[in-house]
Amino acid sequence: MNLSSRLPDVGTTIFSIMSKMALVHNAINLSQGFPDFPVSEKLIDLIHQKMKEGHNQYAPMPGVEALRNIIRDIILKTYRHEVNAETEITITAGGTEAIFSSIAALIRPGDEVILFDPSYDSYDPAIRLSGGTPVHLNLSPPHFAIDWSEVKKKITPRTRLIMVNTPHNPAGAVLSSSDLQSLEMIAAEHNLIVLSDEVYERIIFDGRVHESVLKYPALAQQSIAVFSFGKTFHATGWKVGYTVAPEAITQEIRKAHQFVTFSVNTPVQLALAEFMADPENYLHLGKFYQQKRDFFLEQIKGTSLRPLPCSGSYFQLLSYEGVSQKTDRDMAIWMTQEMKLAPIPVSAFYKDQTDNKLLRFCFAKNENTLRKAGEILKKI
Ligand code: GLN
Repeated sequence: MNLSSRLPDVGTTIFSIMSKMALVHNAINLSQGFPDFPVSEKLIDLIHQKMKEGHNQYAPMPGVEALRNIIRDIILKTYRHEVNAETEITITAGGTEAIFSSIAALIRPGDEVILFDPSYDSYDPAIRLSGGTPVHLNLSPPHFAIDWSEVKKKITPRTRLIMVNTPHNPAGAVLSSSDLQSLEMIAAEHNLIVLSDEVYERIIFDGRVHESVLKYPALAQQSIAVFSFGKTFHATGWKVGYTVAPEAITQEIRKAHQFVTFSVNTPVQLALAEFMADPENYLHLGKFYQQKRDFFLEQIKGTSLRPLPCSGSYFQLLSYEGVSQKTDRDMAIWMTQEMKLAPIPVSAFYKDQTDNKLLRFCFAKNENTLRKAGEILKKI
């Protein structure tokens, strides 16, 4: 059969490749981003209880009402933004589905989407599957700052959407209030929709505050904010996230969502709704991960690798510029196979494969894991 691919240049995601390589070579896996410590027993018990009580059939298409209500309350408390739980919040199968359904619903053939590289690897293919044209703008280490005057130059009459991500995967950079103000002005002036990936909203360090699009009333009126429970509750495998967007945009997102997954599993949604009623269950995440970042940095002191600034997310970038001329992909493979420690090569997040000699390490791990990783890195 002569099968012509819609995504001929796309292979298996780098996260699957590196996690598998780590497994095969018995390497410590700091590649794919997921915690190696347990989910709260209380939350697991709640899910069990919901299942036993018989909550095992389809949830409502937009999500369980109790969960949407508690999300509404938390958004009001956190971002001082009022949303309608019935018409503006949609529970999705993780952040990735939220992004995919949003793009599938809103991008028409020929529409241009501005995105910043390094970018999460699902963004570009999702745009292209909808017939849109991704317009990539490269950001540079160490700060990966956005030059908004460059952004303006990329806008054409076909520009429909702009994607941002804060705290940033893989860079660990966070957008400032002045970034959000620039974004708000540009979006208003050119009538753009903003798709804001905020899945690491609670993983932010050193006294910084997360700048959600939801904090900016005019911006929120033309934005979709994407969140994830997996990141907040150490349960990436449950694949539950949500979108927050004005009613007219949400209506469109749901048109896609209802045919991508229809709805998300019921017992987890019910359990999360109950669990989130106690802010103690999520308020201390920033401090928790800041300690992990600092512990990891402590372990790599004295190595030849140079850490880049990390203000949020659970990823630390390390430069090996002074150590090897290898490409970052070769370096990641060598480290996994020979040194038994798996990272992610950052060129995988650049459409043009820009190689800044950077590797990404996930520090959402036990101290023991991070200590062992540090011992390996000291030998490099
Ligand atoms: N978000 C995770 C990461 O950046 C990966 C998720 C996945 O593998 N799909 O590592």
